[in-house]
Amino acid sequence: MQKVPFIDLSRYEPGFLETLLPKVETLLRKTQFVGGAEVEKCESNLANFEYAKHAVACANGTDAIQIALRAAGVGKGDNVLLPDLTFWATFESIVNVGGVPCTLDIDPQTIHVSAKMVAEGIEKFKPKALLLVHLYGWAAPDTLAIRKLCQDNNVKLIEDGAQCFGAKINGQSVIGSSWLSTTSFYPAKVLGASGDAGALFSSDPQVAKTCKQLTDHGRTSHYSYGLIGWNSRMGAYEATFLNHSLPYLNERIASRKKVCALYRQELKGLSKIKFLAPASGVEENGYLSVALCPAGERDKIKAALLEKGISTGVVYPSPMSQQECSGRFLGGKIDHGHTLTATQSLLNLPCFAHMSESETAYVIEQVKKIAN
Ligand SMILES: *Cc1c(COP(=O)(O)O)cnc(C)c1O
Repeated sequence: MQKVPFIDLSRYEPGFLETLLPKVETLLRKTQFVGGAEVEKCESNLANFEYAKHAVACANGTDAIQIALRAAGVGKGDNVLLPDLTFWATFESIVNVGGVPCTLDIDPQTIHVSAKMVAEGIEKFKPKALLLVHLYGWAAPDTLAIRKLCQDNNVKLIEDGAQCFGAKINGQSVIGSSWLSTTSFYPAKVLGASGDAGALFSSDPQVAKTCKQLTDHGRTSHYSYGLIGWNSRMGAYEATFLNHSLPYLNERIASRKKVCALYRQELKGLSKIKFLAPASGVEENGYLSVALCPAGERDKIKAALLEKGISTGVVYPSPMSQQECSGRFLGGKIDHGHTLTATQSLLNLPCFAHMSESETAYVIEQVKKIAN
């Protein structure tokens, strides 16, 4: 039986490791471990790739969100809106900076928060900020309207781009066109490091400067401090790995997008699985393939695929407002039940850079049999 993993990080391009190792040796001999030229180069490479004005490297994607919230002035008791369908790091980060998370339900069609929902949230919770999360390698379809809405209502907008590195909206980089956004280079992301790393992006030089300062103890010079920050510096080794990976990224994205497109094209019209596509105007990066199964069928389909050697994911299996401890921190929620339904219906098929044609063909063949 053929085996297809949900994700395989070991598909290095020919020559990738061979050309990386001498760079690592150089770094070790120079003992340049934290900060330095590779990190600076990484910040400018990242900004260039995303057409962003400023990029700030940091230790991971969760820190990036916390730093962004702090740089946006979110503090004790401030309400912050976020989607109920997201990764826990977003909820957690709001609490960690003293804010109060208020969850918004998703639009069942796009499985992202809509501008209408954000408007309702602003009305109801008078938030200081919105943490908009772009899931699945897409952009939230209403991103441009949401940006305007936040600006008009003096709500600080932070965009979590952990999954949308390289994605575009109306021909523009999602991250690069934002006021303040974050990303993660956790190895499984579209641009993965070989450990933890993250970054912030801003169009505002002052905001970028504050973010940079927060990543390094709020330093103004080595032993002088202008802010209460913490240590969230990117290691030089991770920066080297990212700098080395970036030239391969467009090709990796193209190979992922091909897989997503093939699933959509070849698995149309099945009764028990429906593939979603990014909204028109949104160009995906192929981070995840996204399908919905009828509630009650999803887990059966997942199990049947596993029996055929195919591993799948569920991003995400339950709403943030319903986690064991969320009740103690939740400021409130707007909930029409769409997030819960989505979490019971979502299924992500295998999708990763350099997935082979025979692997995709095998997945397609099995899904046709199982989900018909
Ligand atoms: C991965 C991820 C994060 C967290 O990033 P880390 O680098 O793992 O801390 C935050 N938000 C979303 C949407 C993510 O997918």
